Amino acid sequence: MTGRYANIIADISHEKLDRTFQYIIPDALQGRLEPGTAVMIPFGAGNKLIRGYVMEITDRAEYDVGKLKSVESVIEDAVTPEGDALRLAGWIKEHYGSTMIAALKTVLPVKRKLKPVVKRTICALEDADTLKLAAHDFEKKHQVAKARLLHELSVQPALPYSLVVGKLGVSPQTLRSLENAGLIRLEAHEAYKNSMPQGGAPGWQKKDVRQLSEAQLHIVNEIQTEYEAGIRGTYLIHGVTGSGKTEVYMELIERVRAMGKQAIVLIPEIALTYQTLIRFYRRFGERVSVMNSRLSPGERSDRYECARRGEIDIMIGPRSALFTPFERLGLVIIDEEHESGYKSESMPKYHAREVAGELCRIKRASLVLGSATPSIETYYRAKQGEIRLFTLKERLAGGALPQVRVEDMRRELKEGNRSIFSRRLYALMAERLKKGEQTMLFLNRRGYAGFVSCRACGHVMKCPHCDVSLSEHNVPHSGRMDGFSAAGRLVCHYCGYETPGVTKCPECGSKYILGFRAGTQQVEELLKKEFPNARVLRMDADTTRTKGSYEKILSAFANEEADILVGTQMIVKGHDFAGVTLVGILAADMSLHRNDFRAGERTFQLLTQAAGRAGRGTLGGEVVIQTYQPENYAIVHASRQDYEGFFEEELSYRDLMLYPPVAGMLAVLVLADDELLGAARARELADCAAKSFGAGGAAVIGPSGAGIGKINDVYRFVFYVKHRDYSVLVEVKDALERLIADRQWNSESVQFDFNPMSSY
Ligand code: ADP
Ligand code: ZN
Ligand code: ZN
Repeated sequence: MTGRYANIIADISHEKLDRTFQYIIPDALQGRLEPGTAVMIPFGAGNKLIRGYVMEITDRAEYDVGKLKSVESVIEDAVTPEGDALRLAGWIKEHYGSTMIAALKTVLPVKRKLKPVVKRTICALEDADTLKLAAHDFEKKHQVAKARLLHELSVQPALPYSLVVGKLGVSPQTLRSLENAGLIRLEAHEAYKNSMPQGGAPGWQKKDVRQLSEAQLHIVNEIQTEYEAGIRGTYLIHGVTGSGKTEVYMELIERVRAMGKQAIVLIPEIALTYQTLIRFYRRFGERVSVMNSRLSPGERSDRYECARRGEIDIMIGPRSALFTPFERLGLVIIDEEHESGYKSESMPKYHAREVAGELCRIKRASLVLGSATPSIETYYRAKQGEIRLFTLKERLAGGALPQVRVEDMRRELKEGNRSIFSRRLYALMAERLKKGEQTMLFLNRRGYAGFVSCRACGHVMKCPHCDVSLSEHNVPHSGRMDGFSAAGRLVCHYCGYETPGVTKCPECGSKYILGFRAGTQQVEELLKKEFPNARVLRMDADTTRTKGSYEKILSAFANEEADILVGTQMIVKGHDFAGVTLVGILAADMSLHRNDFRAGERTFQLLTQAAGRAGRGTLGGEVVIQTYQPENYAIVHASRQDYEGFFEEELSYRDLMLYPPVAGMLAVLVLADDELLGAARARELADCAAKSFGAGGAAVIGPSGAGIGKINDVYRFVFYVKHRDYSVLVEVKDALERLIADRQWNSESVQFDFNPMSSY
């Protein structure tokens, strides 16, 4: 990196990050500095030599050059966690476009002091055999929560209260009754919140180490062999849920630890369930810590500190766990790597998978990705040979894959059924109720769908330029029981193309061309009407607003206190209910016609995951997918659980339309208090991109008003730039940043989003 000046932070305490000092880079040090490099600088009136970190290298002097001091020297071999974090921040800033401060705040955890807290523990008062017997008795009486707790206590005689009440779903009343029965005791003691997560009380014994299958062992051995040969690769483990990926992760961690290294495991927040965490605790005891969004800043800071001091070796958590300051990081694992939650929604809009790649490069660590439905990006890289692919084909527990049936809702209409439920789904639900087995109904309702489709022939209104669904705007809810509403204005969220709503299908002339707007609440009402005796639970954004409600609904369903669980995509992630033998997917088309290019991929993932919920117990399972487009490739491949077939078709579409991963896509979001000003700025920026890079093959789409045109009185405009070469998009971003700086616009009024996860 070259440039005449270096912007340097003199002190890495979080409060002081906002302030950098500019120094001249002397000729002798030219080319030796980059963001993150530790240097000695003369500081203050006495020119005392202190340590600083380079944040930025530039040719633009911010002060009177005559008054600038020079960097004294580079500190050799100063590989510090701070230096690494700064290098990572530098990469994030450059790669995603943000201020250095925003990038630094992302990678450097806040330091906070902690107050002592009261920790409560649940202790067993009987020995393991007695507990097991008691658990057995409760099981017979269908007191599932009690049975589960006693069973856990028979393995581990003391459990943290928060774990038992939270993830284990045992109510305080249940605890009291077990306490009265003399089986358990509640203990409270003051403690500093240490690195221990909810379950990591000391004394977890090493148990449950499984003999790996040949396929699992192959993966572990191959990765280890490469590691020992000095190769730090990226690996993808493609395997259905239950194929043994987690077991592979744990064995890899074990081996990396044996070499004195540390590991970070990313798991989407929603999949950080008790069942998953407890497996790690059992195996690695107090060397594990967990991050999640419910931690206070103090708790977070404390856990990061434990990592910095080397008191733990394994950090599990969502996106933010990636920034654990391990000195000896050897391995990063990203489970469910396709999850959109790995992409940050605020600036800098980084993707954890990509940042993990860079982190591993800096730290010389290996990266392991795992998924049942890998992202198109990752699979594409695997096909290109950049990522080594391993496949796990069979489920190791939880029975065979379920039988999947696709129900054509156009035929239902033709034959006189206007209900949300197909006749087959209705019949199967009735049968499950009779047999006392459980059903999950999944309403595929992702983002604001608002697409318009024909119920008679399945035709969907699409943008002629972008090949994504048009969205319906400004239609009041009609309240119709079949979930459809009348026509409104139709808009493309990429290019702004607009057309009046239609009242007649352009394909078949039917008047049943409508926007789909059914909600979970409507489904719940209908269920209560059709099956008055069924016990129904609903899980969506409304019913999970209060703290703990999410866990409460799940544990009630796990305890078989309900027959049917209705929900949005929330219910399909990472939960195993042995009693579920039927999964119904209503309106599978919904996410298919989202207004962005990932709609097909999202649909395939959701359907595959939802189907995977059926038959996790010994009973076997059935899945019903309801759709108006049974011939659609995402639905066809999902019903066959055929990932390869889906990938090939999806990729050819992306290739044709120049969407990621075949090309790069940069979304530029322009925010302004004044509508005309925002529109003018968006136009100027888009013109700049087109003028400077259009000849080089960059396509500029838009600008147009964003899908949500105004939030909190701030107007939003967006345009997109596509190019086959990602690095050209980075150059576009740099050019736009220069324009913004020249015009002296507030740097926060323009946001960059590379390869966006959804449209704006
Ligand atoms: P995934 O992470 O792919 O969903 P898991 O690692 O959770 O798969 O394994 C699924 C189930 O199979 C778990 O109950 C796990 O304990 C069990 N399992 C995994 N590997 C083995 C093995 N080699 N032998 C026996 N059971 C296994
Ligand atoms: Zn039609
Ligand atoms: Zn368009």
